[in-house]
Amino acid sequence: MKNPRFKRILLKVGGESMIGNREYGIDPQAALEVAQKIKSIHDKGVQIAVVIGGGNIFRGIAGSKNGIDRATADYMGMLATIMNGLALQDALEKVNVSTRLQSALDMPSVAETFIRRKAIRHMEKGHVVILSAGTGVPYVTTDTGASLHALELNCDVFMKATKVNGVYEKDPMKFPDAKRYQTLSLKDAISMDDVQVMDTSALAMSQENNLAVMIFKLFEGDNLEKAVDGENIGTYVSNDVTTKLV
Ligand code: UDP
Repeated sequence: MKNPRFKRILLKVGGESMIGNREYGIDPQAALEVAQKIKSIHDKGVQIAVVIGGGNIFRGIAGSKNGIDRATADYMGMLATIMNGLALQDALEKVNVSTRLQSALDMPSVAETFIRRKAIRHMEKGHVVILSAGTGVPYVTTDTGASLHALELNCDVFMKATKVNGVYEKDPMKFPDAKRYQTLSLKDAISMDDVQVMDTSALAMSQENNLAVMIFKLFEGDNLEKAVDGENIGTYVSNDVTTKLV
């Protein structure tokens, strides 16, 4: 078996990966499929911290547009990520992957409080650590939580698994001729007005601390295994590359 290129990764799984064929919420079958993907790289010995999103249940921005105070709506969004975290934990344990669920918001009866050194120790022992509630503060999203956790947990790379296979110059759903970026410098990613790669705070944190971000589609063949082997199967966003379309 080939040794994976990355020994410890931060995997960001968007809430939408948990929806399956539903319009909203959690489809246990979809959660199992996410779990199987994670298991495939866990079996290779990769240490994994998963930051789980909450967009399939609640996003603060949407709540605030409907009249809820923004910070309150963001806390509701963070609670949504804890629900997803529990669902992912359940699915991973069902496929025999040992897990620990941590939360940036204290909720001791359902999840451990996030403690950096404990999270590292869990990974060293072979547990997948699921990190919920993002950063624990409002006005950002779980992408910022993922950058932050990737850095403080000394992860080799931040992998953002999405429903699209990378970053496009324009919306590929609306424009079938849209081209994908193979590589994207973090500087360009921050300054692009029309394409939102992720939170500016997540990009800025990655840029300032030299953290590379791989963006790719989770549900496409063995993409996750390829990514841990160092293959660029989507868009590679880093300080070390120049921006190039496919
Ligand atoms: N959130 C927050 N602070 C954080 C992480 C998340 O306030 O550090 C809130 C925010 O409202 C966000 C919601 O939780 O919209 C769900 O997370 P996110 O939108 O990142 O989920 P995803 O799009 O990844 O499914």
